[in-house]
Amino acid sequence: MMKKLSRRDFLQAGAAAGAFATVGSAPIGSEAVARAQLLPASPALAGWFDRPMRWVQLTLVENDPGRFDPRFWLDYFRRLHADAATLSAGGIVAYYPTKIHLHHRSDWLGDTDPFGTLVTGCRAMGMHVVARTDPHAVREDVRAAHPDWISVAGNGEPRRHWANRDLWVTCALGPYNFDFMNDVHREIVAAYAVDAIFANRWAPQGGDCYCVHCRENFKAATGRELPATTDRTDPRRREFLEWRKTRLTELWKRWDATIRNVRAEACFIPNGPPDMKTAGDLAPIQFADYQARRGVTPPWANGRRAKEFRAVMGRRPVGGIFSVGLEEPYRWKDSVQSEPEVRLWVAEGTANGMRPWVTKFSGVLYDRRWLPVVERIYDWHFKHERYLRNEAPLARVALLHSEQTEAYHPGAAPADRAADHVLGMYHALVESRIPFELVHEAFLTPERLDAFKLLILADAAALSDDQCRAIRDYVARGGSLLATFASSLYDETGRRRADFGLADVFGVSFSGRIDGPMQNSYLSLDADPATGRRHAILDGLEDAPRIVNGVFRIDVRPAQAFPSPVTLIPSYPDLPMEDVYPRVVRTETRELYLRDLGRSRVVYIPWDIDRTFWDVMCVDHLRLLRNAVAWAANEPPPASVDGPGVVDVAVWRQRDSMTVHLVNLTNPMMMKGPLREAIPVGPLRVRIRLPNGAQARKVQLLTAGTTARASAAGGALEVAVPSVEVHEVVAVDF
Ligand SMILES: [Zn+2]
Repeated sequence: MMKKLSRRDFLQAGAAAGAFATVGSAPIGSEAVARAQLLPASPALAGWFDRPMRWVQLTLVENDPGRFDPRFWLDYFRRLHADAATLSAGGIVAYYPTKIHLHHRSDWLGDTDPFGTLVTGCRAMGMHVVARTDPHAVREDVRAAHPDWISVAGNGEPRRHWANRDLWVTCALGPYNFDFMNDVHREIVAAYAVDAIFANRWAPQGGDCYCVHCRENFKAATGRELPATTDRTDPRRREFLEWRKTRLTELWKRWDATIRNVRAEACFIPNGPPDMKTAGDLAPIQFADYQARRGVTPPWANGRRAKEFRAVMGRRPVGGIFSVGLEEPYRWKDSVQSEPEVRLWVAEGTANGMRPWVTKFSGVLYDRRWLPVVERIYDWHFKHERYLRNEAPLARVALLHSEQTEAYHPGAAPADRAADHVLGMYHALVESRIPFELVHEAFLTPERLDAFKLLILADAAALSDDQCRAIRDYVARGGSLLATFASSLYDETGRRRADFGLADVFGVSFSGRIDGPMQNSYLSLDADPATGRRHAILDGLEDAPRIVNGVFRIDVRPAQAFPSPVTLIPSYPDLPMEDVYPRVVRTETRELYLRDLGRSRVVYIPWDIDRTFWDVMCVDHLRLLRNAVAWAANEPPPASVDGPGVVDVAVWRQRDSMTVHLVNLTNPMMMKGPLREAIPVGPLRVRIRLPNGAQARKVQLLTAGTTARASAAGGALEVAVPSVEVHEVVAVDF
């Protein structure tokens, strides 16, 4: 329970806020920011979708009926304070007495209705109910009756299920989904009046489909045969992928219309949209199905997924699906993960604006260790719900999410991967404790962009002319830009331009040459010859005459005069040791281009600082990136954190409060889970800038359950956080 606020603490907090209330902010004020980000894209926040804060999913296995105990699960949902449940209904197996021919009833169903039993139980607790279907596989009787419903591989053979040879993989884009599953969805909504249908694995599975319907539909749409190539730089591959996206969008709209026709307030929710833009256009609610990490993956990957969804969903709700087991390629679906790992994964999602959705397979439990873990997480969430009902993020830095770069840009050179640039930049921002958001390339409107003081392009290589224009206009309106490497050097189809689409903004042009991979190259850190002083972008590197270079660089020609804090020392031999000395000691080639345009500042870095950072994690590169962000943003951040450790920081506005989330990533298992134990960090000092006009009435640490020691310092609210185990939230009531 939360401790009572002492009078002294209250006065301290109040005084701090009073002192801060009149402190102004950046040209684009946080209050305007909050308002801008409140504007939801269509469809609006109507309906039930925004009400549930905590979700549960129970996926039944075929022999559950008659063996599992629905009362146990309903009681568990109640203890979790769950507001909504997603329950197995139909598709591969029907868990209700379906009347649709070929819709396979569980062999264990008898005359029972386990789906209906759970729906009734959830309703009795006031929960919303979503029916889960899975259309990706069928039995032999379906294949025999409708051979054309089955996915066809490149060799012309019908596709058997990779994990269960008794099943066949369905064609996702043909009549099985468009007609048969459409009937199934209609039947479920009509019989149970559910709030939505959630379809798992509804997009093509197991590889491209060459069935008669896909061939005919592709030909009708494009006039061509289905291409055999999987080379994403081939325009025919792009045409196929765009067609598949369109077809999936049609399927989404068809199922959605059928469902709404039966029940106006219900809808279809895909597990994974055709692409993020379509989710932004169509979805009232979305769920990120990223159940746990595997391999070398930092915990912030779940927060990143949350940001990707919110970049297109805005204020609309996003659920974070997490599992309680090991998510490894070996597919131990009945396993149980360590408690600190589950807690950290969920904390990253919550801190970054997702609502928790625990998913469990099998109504019969073999290992119950996860039950109290999830109960503790949900109990915390329930207790602090009012501080988790976010209205808008208050971050002032945004990183561009470019799906078209991911899809159509394989890299500027062999062994260069655009995805690694983004990972490196993301990690650097987290390590620098900079609160930031993602913005999506399809929504570069002033309403979205102007919430931010700084936009970052981490090798956002593939940008259309329109997208370049939107970014150019943003800079003209006073926004700052930090861009690396091949940003805007390619168009939206992945075709290389003669020059950067943003050459005029960067102030440099592409010379036509890309160098790398480079060995043993360096960067000279130089003072301004006129003043003898070093640029602020080199802060913290005072004693370093040079640092290591990246691995790839884009050769550019400056179109104007630039300061020259960082210049190239070209590669020189790294063996034999007798040969290892610089052949060229000094060049005039800048490797950092800084433009100060008054309100906006532009940083262009022509080498792969972010990719190399992800590759080798050089602390000098981190320092340079951190300084570049600070110089370009040119304003104090909404929250900053002093103290030891790696802490992911997120800042939010609620209706009558704001919160600063601190997620402690400091752990020897940070880059590869699972965590063995949570290792607390602290004390931390958090400095918070309140939105204009806001006054702090009360400052709490939600996890500690205490009132915080808060004081006014330098125009900000300074809060002492003694220790963070996994997740702490500083909550400031206005
Ligand atoms: Zn097909």
